[in-house]
Amino acid sequence: MKFALKNKNLILFLLFFILLLFFIPANASEIRENITPPGKYIALTFDDGPHPGTTERLLDGLRQRNIRATFFLIGEEADANRELVSQIKADGHQIGNHTWSHAGLDALSDQEILREIGDTDQLLQSLAGPGEYWLRPPYGFIRPGSENLIQTPVITWSVDPRDWESRDAEKIFQAVINNAKPGDIILLHDIYAPSVEAALRIVDELSKQDYEFVTVSELLSLYDISPQAGVKYRGAS
Ligand SMILES: [Zn+2]
Repeated sequence: MKFALKNKNLILFLLFFILLLFFIPANASEIRENITPPGKYIALTFDDGPHPGTTERLLDGLRQRNIRATFFLIGEEADANRELVSQIKADGHQIGNHTWSHAGLDALSDQEILREIGDTDQLLQSLAGPGEYWLRPPYGFIRPGSENLIQTPVITWSVDPRDWESRDAEKIFQAVINNAKPGDIILLHDIYAPSVEAALRIVDELSKQDYEFVTVSELLSLYDISPQAGVKYRGAS
């Protein structure tokens, strides 16, 4: 009887110990891969430019507010508006690659993918200086299995107000303000006047809420993420 009681205590102890194992992470890095920074950081990104008029207005507004953003440029547009590429660079924004002709990379051959990205990269290297120009694939698509062709990180987004569809500054502004959280990457297009108007209102409103605007590369770095070539990043949080 005495032996049985002792055995029961032993079993209870073992059960408790096994339960405890479930609540202690074996390795903290398995639970959380990145570190949450103390500030409220967020990244504005602008696709499809540079575009005469609207891009200038956006650059002026961002410069007045001392805000840095990220511009994913179409090769054809960069080629046709070279002075705007220089201005984006001079203002300290991050520049990225949005393919030469805004092609959906999921429907292209390996050779075509390399040309769309490579021609744009070459132009950006010559217009904005040597550097790594991260890819934003048009529509966010890359063909599964083609990741090894891409030499840089692939940046998509976590907030999409579908500005190209509504072309309505108030709707774009509300869609972003209602969905934004720290670590987000916001998708806008600086080829539409309402998007530019909304972007500057978004900067003013989120700044009031203590957000800090950073480039995509700064955002990932603040979250202790080391971006890898061919890997998609839609945000940092
Ligand atoms: Zn695009």
